[in-house]
Amino acid sequence: MEIYRRIFEYAPDAMLVLGRDGRLCLVNAQAETLFGYDRSELLGRTVEMLVPARFAGQHAAHRSRFMDEAQSRQMGRQQDLYAQRKDGSEFSVDVMLSPMIMAGEQLTLCVVRDITERKAAQDALEHQTNELLRLHAELELLANHDGLTGLYNWRAFYEHAGQLLTTAHRRHEKASILILDLDRFKQINDSFGHAEGDRVLQAAAAALKASARQSDIVARHGGEEFVIAAFGLNEAESLVAAERLRAAVANIENLACSVTTSVGVATFVPDTTSRQEPPTLLADLLDRADQALYHAKRTGRNRIYHFDQLPADEDAAPATDAR
Ligand code: GH3
Ligand code: MG
Ligand code: MG
Repeated sequence: MEIYRRIFEYAPDAMLVLGRDGRLCLVNAQAETLFGYDRSELLGRTVEMLVPARFAGQHAAHRSRFMDEAQSRQMGRQQDLYAQRKDGSEFSVDVMLSPMIMAGEQLTLCVVRDITERKAAQDALEHQTNELLRLHAELELLANHDGLTGLYNWRAFYEHAGQLLTTAHRRHEKASILILDLDRFKQINDSFGHAEGDRVLQAAAAALKASARQSDIVARHGGEEFVIAAFGLNEAESLVAAERLRAAVANIENLACSVTTSVGVATFVPDTTSRQEPPTLLADLLDRADQALYHAKRTGRNRIYHFDQLPADEDAAPATDAR
């Protein structure tokens, strides 16, 4: 039996044997090292002396329950376990429990392993993972949003407006696209500086976002141009929305000078005979809204036009060249 005694004594993990009353009746060398007590200080005392005070009460209750259930298992699988050394310092542990019957007496073998390093590595990994997730979310935000105004950027607009039109197409609903271009914005930059120009863009973006419906997709098209996709709006309703947005920009306060916007609108009308697919629909609608915007610019600015209102002889010059 000497060999078993030696295995117990020199096992690399701390081993403690306790009786039904929770008192320690056998401990090995590693238990002395781990907890910082001499064997004589441990034997005969309850095991709770090795548990931080705040857990001791709970521990004693769990211990009694284990004695009744009496099968080998890991202790506290769902929670972090802490033990306490003689000097009061705490450390993380893994504890395995095994019931034993010796000469008719019920005993429990506890194998305690210090997992401070493993836990530190786990915590570091968890911290790194969280940091990566945070960076990923930040990158996604940057990839989809315009840095100056916080609105969707063009890429995100194209994606979401495409989905919106697909839905409208499938459900036979209307949808409208509004393009807004701030009037004579270059003059604002020239007169008040680029920083004030940026402030105007931010204020305009905020005004548009506040005036649009929650379900509208509001984006910065680039420069001083914004674009909105609105589900369910017919021609008349889209003109009402456009007027609301135009007025919201004109009424922005606390700027170095007032700013106005021209708006071009185009509406998708579901047509069961059409074989056009949503991507071409979006490109077509944007082109039409752009033509309407061009007309609004040509006829004096600070106004709105719907593509369907354009005079028949309107030369459909590319709006980007003319504005
Ligand atoms: P129009 O009424 O015909 O639209 O005239 P406009 O002056 O608004 O149009 P134009 O295209 O001539 O000028 C747009 C200006 O917007 C020029 C450019 O310097 C400025 N701009 C573009 N992006 C930014 C930006 O991010 N910040 C600032 N401050 N200005 C910008
Ligand atoms: Mg422009
Ligand atoms: Mg402009």
